[in-house]
Amino acid sequence: EAKTQGKGRYVEYQTAMGRVRLERLELVDDLRQAIDDAEIDVAYQPVIGVDHGRIVGAEALARWRRNGVPVAPDVFISVAEETGLIVPLGDVILGKVAADAPALLSAADGEPLSINVNISAAQLREPEFIATVGRTVAAMRGTSLILEITERQGVDLDDNVLAAMRAIENMGVVFAIDDFGVGFSSISYLHDLPAQVIKADAALSNGIDEDPRARALLRSVVLMGQSLGFGVVVEGIERESQLDVVREDAPGVLAQGYLMHRPMPLADLLSVMRLERDGRRAMR
Ligand code: C2E
Ligand code: MG
Ligand code: MG
Ligand code: MG
Repeated sequence: EAKTQGKGRYVEYQTAMGRVRLERLELVDDLRQAIDDAEIDVAYQPVIGVDHGRIVGAEALARWRRNGVPVAPDVFISVAEETGLIVPLGDVILGKVAADAPALLSAADGEPLSINVNISAAQLREPEFIATVGRTVAAMRGTSLILEITERQGVDLDDNVLAAMRAIENMGVVFAIDDFGVGFSSISYLHDLPAQVIKADAALSNGIDEDPRARALLRSVVLMGQSLGFGVVVEGIERESQLDVVREDAPGVLAQGYLMHRPMPLADLLSVMRLERDGRRAMR
């Protein structure tokens, strides 16, 4: 009896495994189709200067609605990285950013504006990528491109990757080390990578308005970055009390967070920027 029960469970387990694998295959298929059809959208989250609160840039974030239902970027970006789809997906994002750049430039009304795009190490290993970035930069005339790099899977950044980064840097593109302070992006990156910006992960902003040790930790990370000559962006600001702490402890940094702005469609970003411009003009 025990034997048949055991077998039944095994069959059940097999079926569940089969279902998981099938679902995964369908997800990959749908993602590939969405990329082919350029149905990956870009949401923009403004980056502000904490000293003045004005928008100095925006981070482009990939958005995918699968049959109308949004899929979390952490999910479809991981799948894209595991399957190699991150390369064509990245091309779609860069293409859309290039297409959006003229409208953003005009909304910036003469103020400097950077657009941040997240990339994966696999893209830097693609020989075509340097040319793709070159075309993007050419289309973005007047706005600057920042490429954010993170090491989700802890893969080593080898010499080929570093060489590609240097070639891209020579085109006037700035690299930012994303998710700094958590996971795989370690202090040695500051030394090894041709980057000019670090983005302190949202986890570091978490309790800075409640816990003195959390506050001291973020402050130390910012000071370390700044004393090495990096521009620093603090992520994950959700409360006014957190922004107060950052203003006090880390003047000169840039910040992103739901408190200031959530990621939004291009049209909304343009409206926010135009409102800000009208405010600036009224002050003069
Ligand atoms: P990331 O590059 O670190 O982007 C910041 C993430 O934090 C975004 O999540 C953003 O919506 C979220 N966020 C912004 N402000 C706050 C806040 O105040 N509180 C909290 N809790 N979260 C905040 P999102 O859009 O879900 O993206 C997740 C990750 O997916 C990104 O993290 C990035 O690593 C990756 N990703 C997104 N788009 C792309 C892409 O086009 N290419 C690549 N390679 N990766 C991408
Ligand atoms: Mg990022
Ligand atoms: Mg980040
Ligand atoms: Mg992140």
